[in-house]
Amino acid sequence: MIKEILLCKYGEIVLKGANRKYFEDMLCREMKKRAACYGNFQIYRAQSTIYIEPADDEADLDGMFTAAGKVFGIVAISRAAVCEKNMEDISRTAAEYVPSFLEGKKTFKVEAKRSDKAFALDSMEISREIGGVILENCRGIRVDVHHPDVIVKVEIREFGAYVSAGQFKGAGGMPVGTNGRGLLLLSGGIDSPVAGYMMAKRGVRLDAIHFESFPYTSERAREKVLELARIVSEYAGDIYVHVVSLTHIQEELVKACEEDYFTLLLRRYMMTIAERVARMKGCSALITGESLGQVASQTMQALGVTDAAVNLPVFRPCIGMDKEEIVTVARKIETFETSIQPYEDCCTVFTPKHPRTKPELEKVLVQENKLDFQALVEEAMGTMYTVHITPEY
Ligand code: ATP
Ligand code: MG
Repeated sequence: MIKEILLCKYGEIVLKGANRKYFEDMLCREMKKRAACYGNFQIYRAQSTIYIEPADDEADLDGMFTAAGKVFGIVAISRAAVCEKNMEDISRTAAEYVPSFLEGKKTFKVEAKRSDKAFALDSMEISREIGGVILENCRGIRVDVHHPDVIVKVEIREFGAYVSAGQFKGAGGMPVGTNGRGLLLLSGGIDSPVAGYMMAKRGVRLDAIHFESFPYTSERAREKVLELARIVSEYAGDIYVHVVSLTHIQEELVKACEEDYFTLLLRRYMMTIAERVARMKGCSALITGESLGQVASQTMQALGVTDAAVNLPVFRPCIGMDKEEIVTVARKIETFETSIQPYEDCCTVFTPKHPRTKPELEKVLVQENKLDFQALVEEAMGTMYTVHITPEY
């Protein structure tokens, strides 16, 4: 029986300098956490690779393969067969293991790497010999050294020899936690989960804040948001979702302020509360799913007015993306189907018929000053409760 393992390569580029070991430890820890859900594995690293090795027959390597594909900082994953460091065993393994990976493919080449220089053959000789074995065992396949469909790798390493055929793309990006902590404004829509995913990919550990407006928004709407957080957490790791009620603020806005400004004013409240929560939770930036021009509150002027409410950087990774592009990411990370469930959002509860698209800050402030802004923020802060989302990898 062939023993199969996963080899996860991390990007050299992001791991340079003094931080290298810190990043590597972080990645290894992340893998171990996920592996714990799939059985017993041995996990260790060497030569810019994390080795994931089933420790018994029960370990679910396929499940772990999918989970490893969601770890940021990993650029490529290959499945490899482990064998003894001698040509007989390597040949036998290649003959048995490689053919299924070459099904439907026309060409291949063998790349051998010998980090154990004590091994009798050099890489050229290994490649030639294993290439021959594969030609004998796979019908209709030929060698193409320039543009092969599949690269078969034979690696002679410290702990043994590995045979792999083809590589899968890893999640890319940087290990979560290596680039600070940010607070994601998470609605039930399509854009904000994508925004969270994109910043987590850059190494940002996420907290989330969700605003609800009970009874105008429902229990189901909140459940949907928590489900979105759960899906994002498969990439981003644990997420604390802070839920804050905007009910009273919205009711006061409707009573006191000009309708055209509702959304803008509400957004300034949201950002202000988010900033307060961010500082409380050690987050150094806010993250939203806004995209330029998508709706009235996302024009350049409107974004200026919302930004003026806060003193933290606001990251909007979707700002330059078309809806279609955002949807493509949402489908890839599997938040889309949940996002399109039709539940109300607090933003859609009292929407003005003619929202301002080119608001002026002075005029917004005139409206805002009709209410005791700080007191309402304070009161909303008092409604906050936190849900800890742990990923089911
Ligand atoms: P999404 O698809 O993420 O809901 P959207 O295009 O519907 O975005 P808006 O509803 O205007 O846009 O919201 C813009 C951004 O404001 C969202 O991407 C999100 O970051 C934040 N936001 C909106 N509603 C909420 C909410 N109820 N709680 C937390 N953040 C919110
Ligand atoms: Mg929304």
